[in-house]
Amino acid sequence: MNVLVINCGSSSLKFQLIDSVSEKVLAKGLCERIGIDGSKIEYEPYNGEEQEKEVSMPTHNEAIKIVIDSLLNKETGVIKDLSEVGAVGHRVVHGGEYFSKSTIVTDEVIKKIEECNDLAPLHNPANIIGIKACINAMPDTPNVVVFDTAFHQTMPPKAYLYPIPYEYYKKYKIRRYGFHGTSHSYVSKKVAQIMDTPYDKLKTIVCHLGNGASICAVENGKSIDTSMGLTPLAGVAMGTRSGDIDPSIVEVISEKENMNVKEVLNVLNKKSGVLGLSEVSSDFRDITKAIEEGNEVAKNALEVFANTVVRFVGAYVAEMNGVDAIAFTAGVGENNQAVRKMVCEQLGYLGVSLDEKANEKRREEIMISTPDSKVKVFVIPTNEELAIARETLELLS
Ligand code: ADP
Repeated sequence: MNVLVINCGSSSLKFQLIDSVSEKVLAKGLCERIGIDGSKIEYEPYNGEEQEKEVSMPTHNEAIKIVIDSLLNKETGVIKDLSEVGAVGHRVVHGGEYFSKSTIVTDEVIKKIEECNDLAPLHNPANIIGIKACINAMPDTPNVVVFDTAFHQTMPPKAYLYPIPYEYYKKYKIRRYGFHGTSHSYVSKKVAQIMDTPYDKLKTIVCHLGNGASICAVENGKSIDTSMGLTPLAGVAMGTRSGDIDPSIVEVISEKENMNVKEVLNVLNKKSGVLGLSEVSSDFRDITKAIEEGNEVAKNALEVFANTVVRFVGAYVAEMNGVDAIAFTAGVGENNQAVRKMVCEQLGYLGVSLDEKANEKRREEIMISTPDSKVKVFVIPTNEELAIARETLELLS
């Protein structure tokens, strides 16, 4: 069955058509600037070159239609008839406490996702628009939703409750939710596979280090703690996000810089992290280059980033009372050997021993610990789209 995987943002729509049996990507692409002048689609079939075309897309409805037209195109399309799309799998950012697993879309499900809009005001409304646009364009095709938060719904109260008045949890559902769940689940399962150990008998820490970054402790196949919180601003330092800081800093910046809370949060979301600290860039490639050119401030920024990762890994080893494997994934985790080395060098106390030669590899599924390392360390390229296609197939069959 071919699954159309959709990841809808407020003005963008990423898509992949995946044959969920052979797991081959038949086509992929991106619609950008939806609802804005100059909207365009990038489309790449498996058997051809990437093309870019400017087309008017006033709403996500037109974007979905253009995606379908591209898939059906006589020359560059990959299917002959829309019936060849067996299902649509949607990434949805926030499922609140309603969803602990993926589910088939019904009116009731859409209503519940809408109820989570307050928890992810930038993402959830866009995800719903994408779902509705697909229902409009393909009324007979089933839709499945896969949530970033669902994997973390197994966290116990001691991990998800914040030590603030309990009434705020009861009234507003303020708690830790965690994100990147699809990636943490995919990568931790892969670790179990590679180690040939049952998933429910393994303690793994997944370091999803991209522009957004989060760490997850997976004990016996369940997320028991994760570094992002109510929102994706919490946890380790990131490209532009601060991660955990003393909350009083918000008041100090607000007073000194004459900003309101929203403005300070904008600084913490968009101007902080590695970008804010290095004053160079949020892209780790630029940071590495600056360090090579002798920029000490950039070096500090990278060290702060790596240290926040070390801090969470240490905490999660303690929470799980041990660890069998650590996995690095996403843009930085898959590509940046310096970060992996800085983290692993701090984990000698666990019996982690890094294989420096293996650590030079990029974007490759590989063990980067030495054969005698007590804790195994892996690089595992994440694939959220494939994970969504798999979930969709599983739910419908
Ligand atoms: P997100 O999905 O959160 O936007 P990604 O997982 O795509 O982020 O990661 C983006 C980051 O990965 C970039 O900021 C860059 O620093 C890093 N990255 C990507 N490719 C490379 C590379 N070849 N070498 C080093 N870093 C890389």
